[in-house]
Amino acid sequence: MNILVINCGSSSLKFQLIDSESEACIAKGLCERIGIEGSRITYSPAGGEKEQRETPMPDHTEAIRLVLEALTNEKTGVVKDLSQIGAVGHRIVHGGEKFAASTLIDGDVIRAIEECNDLAPLHNPANLIGIEACRKLMPNTPMVGVFDTAFHQTMPQEAYLYGLPYEYYQKYKIRRYGFHGTSHSYVSRRAAQFLGKDYSQLKTVVCHLGNGASVSAVKNGVCVDTSMGLTPLEGLIMGTRCGDIDPAVIEFLAHKENKTIDEIMAVLNKKSGVLGLSDNLSSDFRDLEAGWNAGDENAVRAIRAFCYRTAKYIGAYAAAMNGVDVICFTAGVGENGPLVRRIICSYLGYLGVTLDEEANALRGEEKVISTPDSRTVVLSIPTNEELAIARETCRLVKEG
Ligand code: ADP
Repeated sequence: MNILVINCGSSSLKFQLIDSESEACIAKGLCERIGIEGSRITYSPAGGEKEQRETPMPDHTEAIRLVLEALTNEKTGVVKDLSQIGAVGHRIVHGGEKFAASTLIDGDVIRAIEECNDLAPLHNPANLIGIEACRKLMPNTPMVGVFDTAFHQTMPQEAYLYGLPYEYYQKYKIRRYGFHGTSHSYVSRRAAQFLGKDYSQLKTVVCHLGNGASVSAVKNGVCVDTSMGLTPLEGLIMGTRCGDIDPAVIEFLAHKENKTIDEIMAVLNKKSGVLGLSDNLSSDFRDLEAGWNAGDENAVRAIRAFCYRTAKYIGAYAAAMNGVDVICFTAGVGENGPLVRRIICSYLGYLGVTLDEEANALRGEEKVISTPDSRTVVLSIPTNEELAIARETCRLVKEG
């Protein structure tokens, strides 16, 4: 069955068409600047030429119509007509406490996702627009929602509660939810499979280090803790997000800089992280690595702080699980960043970690990067959230 995977943001939409039998990506692409001037679609059929063209996209329905047109185009398309798309899998950012697993989408599910809008005001409404657009254009095609938060719903209360008055949890559901769940689930499972170990017997720490970054602790096949919280702002130092800070910083800065809460939040989300720490050198680790190699103190400061914070979380999760068997690095920086992996692992001697420098030099490969005598195994595992969404979608559609 061909599964169309949709990841809908407020002004962008990423898509992949995946054959669920071979698990191959048949075509993929991206719509950008939806609802803004200069919108464009990029479309790459597997084995064919990538094409990009500017075309008006006043809304997401038009964007999805263009995606479907590209996929069924007589010359460059990959399917004859829409009947060859068996199901659509939607990435949904926040499922609150309502969704601990992926689900077939119907009217009730849409209403339940809407009820989570408060928790992710930028993301969930965009995800819902994508669902509505597909419903309009492909009314008879089954759809599945795969939630970023679902995998983390197994966290115990002591891990997900904040030290706030309990009534705020009861009234507003303020708690830690965690994100990147599809990736943490895929990578932790894949690591066990790759090592030929039993997933239900393993203590794994997954470091998803991309532009957004989070760490999770997966014990015996279930997530017991993760570094992002109510929103994706908590935890690691990220590309542009600050991660953990003293909440009093917000009031302090608001007074000093004469800024509103919204303005401070924009700083914490968009101007902080390694971008802010490097004094605006870059949020991109390729630039920071180049800066590190050239001895640029802004790059060195940002990379050191990023790695230290990540190593601290690994230590916290070794404590939470009373040990760790496997540490996985994934996502853009985790898969492609030998420097970052080396610095993080340099803090982990107490876990018996020794890195194989030669293996660690490789980028973007599924590989053991620790030495054979390393007490904890360290892996680089490329994540594949689209494939994970396609698998979930196929499974649920077949189960009916
Ligand atoms: P997101 O999905 O959160 O936008 P990604 O997982 O794509 O993020 O990761 C983006 C990050 O990965 C960027 O900081 C980028 O610099 C880094 N990255 C990608 N390729 C490389 C590479 N070859 N070497 C070092 N860093 C890389």
